[in-house]
Order: sequence, then structure tokens, then C-alpha cells
Amino acid sequence: MTTEELDPFKISQEQLDTAAGIMKLDPAAHALLREPMQTLTVNIPVKMRDGKTRTFQGFRVHYNTARGPAKGGIRYHPQENISTVKALAAWMTWKCSLADIPLGGGKGGVICDPKSMNDEELENLSRAYVRSIGRFIGPKVDVPAPDVYTTPQIMAWMMDEYSKLEGHDEFGVITGKPVEVWGSQGRFDSTALGAMFVLREAAKLHKINMKNAKVAIQGFGNAGGFAFELVKKLGAKVVAISDSSGGVYSKAGLDYQKLSEQKKKTGELSGIKGVEKLTNEELLELDVDVLIPAALENQITGANADRLKARMVLELANGPVTPEADRILFEKKVPDYPDFLVNSGGVIVSYFEWAQNTQNWYWTEDEVNKKLEGIMVRSFNSVIDTQAKFAKQGARISPRMGAYIVAVDRVAKAMKARGWY
Ligand code: NAD
Repeated sequence: MTTEELDPFKISQEQLDTAAGIMKLDPAAHALLREPMQTLTVNIPVKMRDGKTRTFQGFRVHYNTARGPAKGGIRYHPQENISTVKALAAWMTWKCSLADIPLGGGKGGVICDPKSMNDEELENLSRAYVRSIGRFIGPKVDVPAPDVYTTPQIMAWMMDEYSKLEGHDEFGVITGKPVEVWGSQGRFDSTALGAMFVLREAAKLHKINMKNAKVAIQGFGNAGGFAFELVKKLGAKVVAISDSSGGVYSKAGLDYQKLSEQKKKTGELSGIKGVEKLTNEELLELDVDVLIPAALENQITGANADRLKARMVLELANGPVTPEADRILFEKKVPDYPDFLVNSGGVIVSYFEWAQNTQNWYWTEDEVNKKLEGIMVRSFNSVIDTQAKFAKQGARISPRMGAYIVAVDRVAKAMKARGWY
């Protein structure tokens, strides 16, 4: 049993504190950045299918808006809580800043079990949530998006409700919409695609030959599922993947199509001939070139980091590596590329969607992907350059600290220029 801190907001504060120490951040800026600027809690009455009204609790957090409107997804989850929302809002701030896009950080969530709700109830809840937070969001104030268990359809209902409140269409209030209501081309796999640009650059840097490289992925959802196919385009093979029902392994490499069919048929990934079963714990400890956690937070901890054999970790999920695990990987010299660099492709294409909505001028998927590649490579290089700058002064810092220093410095400079401290 590990006794380390697993509260997501405290983890995000600890990471910021470490970066602040290394970069000698002004104490006034540090104090401002340790807490969200605004936190809204709402109680939302919703008519359910049995005719009764149920009250749901929801949140929306503006972590920092010095560089632009708050940006961040909305989660529907039974275990949603304000600590997770605040942590994710902080990470959104660093994510938008590292990508150097003109947005701040925010996040939202509703405590609910979407799997037990029908479409009508979900629509009622989504519209009621938007009415509750209506004065807190807007294309120039705060632009939400989908996250765990919220979908493009839910974004369309929310945009429609907000437009009704305003009395005119306001497509730019929310991103991740279906393309029929001016979502962006290329949004569906942008998170995984962005991560592949980071993987390509990182593999070159660490001299990992991606041809036939062995990759293990935890999670077979939006992020992990798309990453599976894209990893193969780099010439690598996915030897292991898992979902909440457990994992599977094949030395020769797994077949995406077969796994999808198996999951559809049985609800599980295992059961294919010639493919071994393995637990999630075993997957994390496999001897592979690249490990991609793409499911949940707090998966690589002080309890298992020492047993990791991967040559590189690419954090596609938010918060999969705890600070204690971070220290262990750093000591072992295993490069661990942080979440707010690796999974920033989603918010970057969200930014493109917002920009397209604002100017009413739409781009092709090819244009979107080329622009995404440019920003991902620029972000990666800014992290590497920062590590190199510190190395010249005799200090070795991790990719996470490199990313924090770039991101926090930009937000602090914006706050300074605005006269906030
Ligand atoms: P998702 O709900 O589509 O998929 C989650 C996957 O994790 C599912 O396959 C689920 O079975 C699996 N899972 C759940 N519990 C597990 C367990 N104990 N062990 C192994 N697998 C388990 O969610 P997603 O959109 O793919 O998001 C995954 C992570 O990526 C989250 O941390 C999310 O915040 C992050 N992320 C996603 C996006 C995006 O655009 N989808 C963007 C940025 C960050």
C-alpha cells in the first residue's frame, strides 16, 4: 500500500510548487497560480423519465484567464468532485500556455451516472447545466468542450441552449461539436494524432527506432483506441492493450480490427486465439519501448514505478503518473513526457474550431492536421530547449518540469503585463 498523496488538486499544486522553485517564480505570481480564479457550484433540477425531479450538483472552474478565455472540457461522472475539476482546470491552463494558443484554463463537471440515463434525461441535464452556468461561459469568457462521458451530441445540445439564452446562434461558445453544427474537421482523433507527433520527435531524440518498436497502451477508448492505429503508422507494433475488463498481449503485435470485434461481441478484449490475457498491473510493467497510459489518473505510482521496464512513457491520459513515481522515473532516467504536452492535440483542434466559428471560415482536415503538427512540434521543442538551457547551468530537469517552466512563465508574464501583480 502506498501512502502518497493521490488528491489530484494537491498533486497539481505540488507540481507547480516544484516548478516555481526551479524557475524562481515571483512569490506573488506563485500565490495567484496556486488556486483557481473563480469556482462556480450549481444545483441543477432535472425532470427524469419517471416524472420526478432530481437535483444534480455541477461545477465550472476558471483557473486562470490572463492569456484568454477559459478553455476546458465538461465531465459527467458519478465520482466527479471539485478537487478533480480544479486540477484539470490547472492542467488546462498549462496545456493552452505550452501550446501558445490564446486561451486560459477551465474545466467543468456534473456528478451523475450517464450510463444509467436515457437520451432524454441526458439532454434535459445538459440544457439545465448550461442554463445554470450561462452567465459564466461564452465565446469571449469560457469555452467548454467534451471530456469523459460527454459527447459531440451533448455539445450540440449545450450550444443550442446557450444560443436560445442569447437570442442568436453562438457556435463558438463550445467546441467538440458535430461538423453539422460547425465542429472542426479532424477533431475526432486530434488528441491521439497530436501524441503521435510527440512520439515521433521523442523517439528521434532518444534514438528509439520506431520500426518494429514495441508499444503497450493502457485504455481502449477515445484516446487509446485512436493511438493504437496511429502508432502502427510510425512502423511500431502494439503488443499489449487493456480496458477496464483487463488486458491482452501478443509478442507479434495485436490486430485492432479483431480486438474491436471481440469487444463488441463479448464486452472484453480477451478471447482471441493466440492472444494472451494479462492484468492492467502486468501491462504497465512489460518490457516495451514505449508505454502509453491512456485511461485513468494515478496508474504509475510510488508502488510500481520501480518495476517499469519501458524505455519511454508517453502520458496520453491526464494525471497517470504521481509525483512520487515521477521522481522514481527521473532517477531511473526514463523519459516521461507529461500529459499537458502529449494530449494537447485535442485542445489545439478545439482552438481551431473556436477560431473557425469566430471567423466563419472553415478548414479542410488536411489543413487542420498540418497546423496541429506545427504546434505539437513547436511545443515539444520548447520543452527540450528548456531542459537544455538548465543542463547548461548544470541542472538536470524532467520533461514535465521543462513543460511547466515554459507554460508557467508565459502565464506569469501575461499577469505581470496586465498589472495583476
Ligand atoms: P474513454 O472513456 O473514451 O476511454 C477510457 C478507456 O479507459 C476505456 O477503454 C476504459 O475501458 C479504460 N479503462 C477504465 N478503467 C480502466 C482500468 N482500470 N484499467 C485499464 N483501462 C481502463 O476516455 P478517453 O477520452 O479515451 O480519455 C482517457 C484519458 O485521456 C483521460 O484521462 C482523459 O482525460 C484523457 N484525455 C482525453 C482526451 C480526448 O480527446 N479524448 C483529451 C485529453 C485528455
